[in-house]
Amino acid sequence: MKKCYITTPIYYPNAEPHLGSAYTTIIADFTARVYRSIGYKTYFLTGLDEHGEKIERTAKEKGIKPKELVDSIALIFKKTWQELDITYDHFIRTTDEEHKAFVKEFLQKVKEKGDIYYGNYEGYYCVGCERYYTEKELINDKDGFKCPLHLKLVEKKIIPSYFFKLSKYKEKLLNFYDKNPGFIVTGNLEQIKNSITELKDLSISRPKEQVSWGIEMPFDNSHVTYVWFDALLNYLSASKGFWPPDIQIIGKDILWFHAVIWPAMLMSLNYELPRKLFSHGFLTVNAQKMSKSLGNVINPVELAKEYSVDTLRYYLITKIAFGDDGDFSTKSFKDVHNNELIGSYGNLANRLAKLYNTIGFDQEIYKKEKFDKIINELELKAGNYDLLGIIKLYNEKILPVVDEINAYLNKEEPWKKKENSKKVIGKCLNAFFNISVLLSPLIPHGTYKITKGKTIKEIKENKEIYWIPESDNYVLYKKVE
Ligand SMILES: [Zn+2]
Repeated sequence: MKKCYITTPIYYPNAEPHLGSAYTTIIADFTARVYRSIGYKTYFLTGLDEHGEKIERTAKEKGIKPKELVDSIALIFKKTWQELDITYDHFIRTTDEEHKAFVKEFLQKVKEKGDIYYGNYEGYYCVGCERYYTEKELINDKDGFKCPLHLKLVEKKIIPSYFFKLSKYKEKLLNFYDKNPGFIVTGNLEQIKNSITELKDLSISRPKEQVSWGIEMPFDNSHVTYVWFDALLNYLSASKGFWPPDIQIIGKDILWFHAVIWPAMLMSLNYELPRKLFSHGFLTVNAQKMSKSLGNVINPVELAKEYSVDTLRYYLITKIAFGDDGDFSTKSFKDVHNNELIGSYGNLANRLAKLYNTIGFDQEIYKKEKFDKIINELELKAGNYDLLGIIKLYNEKILPVVDEINAYLNKEEPWKKKENSKKVIGKCLNAFFNISVLLSPLIPHGTYKITKGKTIKEIKENKEIYWIPESDNYVLYKKVE
């Protein structure tokens, strides 16, 4: 049985989900729906990264316990994903008992392997990033060293810490990249390679007096595990027999953790390594960085309520080039909703419903070979875990079929009740059913009214299915003025 294990990063529950986390999760959900529809055994994992200094600090500011904070935000995340119809198979929280036990066991084994030692750490720490930086990674400002992401002063600290022998894996990592050129699909492989020329060992613990909200080191209960080491292991602790991950989707800011630290951790205990890593770019809103002070923060749930869940998915997947930074333009979002979802796909449903109800249809198949070819191509790309190829196929071959059917209707004018009108309508009802099934991972709500849940695997086996409209007035999406 073919399988696909898809992951999103586990998100930080110090704030509600925003457009960026929705973007990552929606791409992952689309991917999972494609794989399920073509018949793969699919496992889609998302969740929350709940430990660390930042959570501890936020909870303290609010006068509550860290667990209360993460519990309340976990509910908001789950509700958001439900409202955006995200079909994850498992929602992991790093405060889950199974996960905590797994991390301890993993650390114990790595220690026994000889890859963990005790030492002193001296470094520049950014609280916002929850990581240490070396001098050359920081911005050398007149006030001192600043974090390149937060542009805030970092703190110089010397603390006792356990270290993971990351430097030991430098050659192995370089070999791995060479042998698996498809591992880092988007993102700068050369930059990653350069960044590990002077690979240092990784501090993986914090003394409890500094941070107490974390997983205790199994061999020293005065230290807790560094959040990244804890968080990355979620993909393994919750893998449920699907190991290794086939498609890991992340934002470009966390590429280094996933391309360097993560495989090295797995190498330490000889695990099979993840197959493909896809990192996406950042989104701006109307060409401006999203920020509370500018008041341009977009709430994905409100957007989905005002337009549709499908519009948000359709826009993010087909209008933002995956891997590049992209701009979310409110004007183009509205245009896409009104012109493409309503004007093209929704309108076709409405036209066909009227024709079927006034004229009827004859059973005629529309371009069987064309759909065979598209499905074969989709299966081929899926087999290579080629997510970019799948998105490209949707843009270039699947979506254009909707316009093709509209154009075919315009040319044949079956409403003029010609001799072949019923045949033309039959062909269109057949084509519309098949294209709706193919589009269902992209726009699941609108298409469900047509397909009633039929899968791509089912239409591969039988393309002779016709859409039988239940009324003569189909409104798949409501217009937004
Ligand atoms: Zn920072």
